[in-house]
Amino acid sequence: MKIETIAVHSGRAVDAATGAVTPPIHLSTTFEREANGEYPKGYNYTRSSNPNRESLEKCLADLEGGMSAATFSSGSAASMSIFQSLSPGDHIVACDDIYHGTRHLIQLFSTWGITFSFVDMTNLKFFQSELRKETKIVWIETPSNPLLKIIDLKRISEATHQIGATVVCDNTWATPVLQSPFSFGVDLVMHATTKYIGGHSDILGGAVISKKDDVIFQKIREMQKSGGAVPSPFECWLTLRGVQTLPLRIRAQSESAMQVAEFLNSHPKISKVYYPGLKTHPGHSIASEQMKLFGGMISFEVNGGKDEAMKLAANVNLFTRATSLGGPESLIEHRASVEGPDSKTPQSLLRMSIGLEHPDDLIDDLKQALEK
Ligand SMILES: *Cc1c(COP(=O)(O)O)cnc(C)c1O
Repeated sequence: MKIETIAVHSGRAVDAATGAVTPPIHLSTTFEREANGEYPKGYNYTRSSNPNRESLEKCLADLEGGMSAATFSSGSAASMSIFQSLSPGDHIVACDDIYHGTRHLIQLFSTWGITFSFVDMTNLKFFQSELRKETKIVWIETPSNPLLKIIDLKRISEATHQIGATVVCDNTWATPVLQSPFSFGVDLVMHATTKYIGGHSDILGGAVISKKDDVIFQKIREMQKSGGAVPSPFECWLTLRGVQTLPLRIRAQSESAMQVAEFLNSHPKISKVYYPGLKTHPGHSIASEQMKLFGGMISFEVNGGKDEAMKLAANVNLFTRATSLGGPESLIEHRASVEGPDSKTPQSLLRMSIGLEHPDDLIDDLKQALEK
């Protein structure tokens, strides 16, 4: 089946008890045992499993074309479960332009004897020079955050498999609608469902999806159940509701982002636009092969540095000045100040999440703000 159909139907069924078309929310933390001690419906305690969480996990696994999914209380908790599957002495190679929260999390694991390297994965030679016999995880984010670097999923996966390590792709920005990492050789897909999958800026969640039910995924599942960083039944329900419109939303957002990127690219006050849909983007040809559309995120640099960037962000009316992404409302942020003092992000850079407004209105808003 096509992804639109999976998004609407997977993990859902008419409720057998009531005929309800929309699934009920099962808030109960505990489930009854039969007189013989068995749990005939398969549930016993919500940290271990819950009907709403199971529905969401089924849907996310189907969307990515994977075998199983484990959902978490945030994207970061999902990433953490992957790092917790490692042992002291293991080594992680991650892309240099990685979500700053994931970078920080990896650095925290050095206390547990995990070592790491951050490398520009757009260069295969640089990447291969960081691989060691201790390397267990290779962490890709493409498009990356916030510079929208495009990493070749197939070539990085092939090189990683030569040393027997596991390839993880944070697919939050592309979503399974635009990019299918498993089809390029990736082993695990991670999502912040907080973003496009939930899609309405009202839930925090994460997921790890596995191509196979292998040892590493079993460890992740064990961390989920025993560690307990699980999403609540209501958040699972809201996320599964959001998923139904994901294919339509991300396509509309990508089409609008393309128009906004072209507008910015031709504006004299903008020095640089980072959007893989632009032919001038260095990753454009790889993005064209591994993505269906180029997504709803754009970064750009304003002439005149931080002050001019801050001024532009102050003068927009329709965009909301806020972090995060993937909701119906367009957002703009000065990324370096969100990332903090060790950020390497240029001070003149603004990052935008293009929402579901009409692109003409977004362009008009940027136009008036740039004239001020
Ligand atoms: C937001 C985000 C995360 C972290 O997700 P949280 O739900 O905020 O913990 C990880 N990766 C990317 C690319 C993100 O945008």
